[in-house]
Amino acid sequence: MTTTRAKRENSVFATCLSSLDSDSQRDLANRVQTGLLAWFATNRRDLPWRRTRDPYRILVAEVMLQQTQVDRVVPYYDSFLDYFPTISSLASAPTGEVIKLWAGLGYNRRAVNLQRTARFIIDELDGVFPRDAASLRRLPGIGPYTAGAIVCFAFEQDVAFLDTNMRRTLHRLFFGVDVPVLTATERELVAMAASIMPVGSGWEWNQALIEFGALQCTARRPACVICPLQAECKAFPEIQGVIALLPISSRRKVETPFGGSNRYYRGRVVDALREMDSEHPTGIDLASLGTRVRDDFGDEDIPWLYQLVQGLARDGLAAVAEEKPAYDAGVPDSGRPIRVKLP
Ligand code: SF4
Repeated sequence: MTTTRAKRENSVFATCLSSLDSDSQRDLANRVQTGLLAWFATNRRDLPWRRTRDPYRILVAEVMLQQTQVDRVVPYYDSFLDYFPTISSLASAPTGEVIKLWAGLGYNRRAVNLQRTARFIIDELDGVFPRDAASLRRLPGIGPYTAGAIVCFAFEQDVAFLDTNMRRTLHRLFFGVDVPVLTATERELVAMAASIMPVGSGWEWNQALIEFGALQCTARRPACVICPLQAECKAFPEIQGVIALLPISSRRKVETPFGGSNRYYRGRVVDALREMDSEHPTGIDLASLGTRVRDDFGDEDIPWLYQLVQGLARDGLAAVAEEKPAYDAGVPDSGRPIRVKLP
């Protein structure tokens, strides 16, 4: 970051915090807090992770929610915790079992990282869950949002953090229209998130912000007409007009077509390994695996598949058993005894 930009951000950061010291800004903050919390009291969904303060259960929920919609997560969350009710049960399970249970949720690395975190807490921390965001950030797959969410939702600390919904809501309320691009920096938004949080109500406040962004102030169809925060919202006068002028492709969320990409085939391979796991406990050879993931698979595709499963093995999503020949043959061909299975 350049010195000039750093100075600007530091200055805005300070302004952001101190701005709530003036009477008018404090009044604005009070109205937003009261309005948002009242909205949450009426509109909140009864989600299973809102009924617990168990850090393990909060961790499972937050990892599942990282890239998956709430409605899809609920049944997976319940069945995962039926199967692995405690952090020690997850830590001691074979990784293949965890990956199998993750089937349908996608982004399988989350399952592996979740178990790595459980194992680290059991093995290295004597089963004691870290209670601060900095310690949580050192665990696999835990970024600033998830660390903040665990500290706030499990230990009820007043911690500011941002997910997409929270970021959008705060931006519109205090900085104005957020499309086509945000005008506030992440630093400014985090500073605002910290300064607007009602003291002692971090749990409720952060849940309310998330819910408001998910249900009321949505990305492309904010319900401004019935919004209780109209009068306080800086974006309100313009947001509907700006969204209407956006190109259709950016107004509607388009599913990224990733069929045929490496990511797509990684998912297909993990799905195939899940399906054949009980049938072939010692694994499956590359040629047989290839025909399960691609209709047009041929021997010439063996090197490609080999690279793919090596990448999965590095990420903890596959185990590759390979008998090395006496000479260096480079990339394997279909005759080399390589077997792949879930870890
Ligand atoms: S008025 Fe519209 S843009 Fe502003 S907070 Fe309410 S829903 Fe969001």
